[in-house]
This record gives sequence, C-alpha cells and structure tokens, in this order.
Amino acid sequence: MSKKRTYKTKTEQRHLDRVVALGCIVCRNEGLGESPAVIHHIRTGQGAGQRSSHFETIPLCPAHHQFHGVGVSYHDCPKTWEMKYGTETDLLGQVLYELGGAK
Ligand SMILES: [Zn+2]
Ligand SMILES: [Zn+2]
Repeated sequence: MSKKRTYKTKTEQRHLDRVVALGCIVCRNEGLGESPAVIHHIRTGQGAGQRSSHFETIPLCPAHHQFHGVGVSYHDCPKTWEMKYGTETDLLGQVLYELGGAK
C-alpha cells in the first residue's frame, strides 16, 4: 500500500497552476464559456481511495466537479457524467494536448 501523497513538488505545482488556468474543460467543450476551475484527480485506473498523480488531473468548475445535487457533477455520478461530457481519459488527453500546444 502506498501512502497518500499530500505534498507537491515545484514541477507538480506549476503543472497544476497551468491546468487550473485553462478553466473548466467541460464548460468550454459545451460552449458555456470560461469558468474558474478546481483540480480534479482522475479516478480511472486507480483503486478505491487512491489518488492519481498530479499530472493526471483535469480542470473542472465546482458545478461540474462535485456534489451539487443537480446531477451534473462528476462526483455525483461518474458514469452519467462521462456519457455526457466524455471520459476522464479523453479529457485528460485534451488537457495535456492543450498544455503542450500552448507553451
Ligand atoms: Zn464547468
Ligand atoms: Zn474530483
């Protein structure tokens, strides 16, 4: 069992800042404009309670991220969410692509 990492290296922090700066990826894909985002660590391929690395993160606004009771947030229902907005893995690919293309 690996210990949960809470610290971030400088490189990780810089990456997270750039991810957040993109704004909510779902709002953008849905044509809702730019929304301030928080970091979501993707769960795909992770065991329960495990966190993915700080490089496996996507930016989501609070409404698309968690528990608003309106059924649009990832943590309300990941399966429905992924059917509507695309899988975490796809969105992660998009994020990394955009970061790589915007040096
Ligand atoms: Zn959003
Ligand atoms: Zn999350």
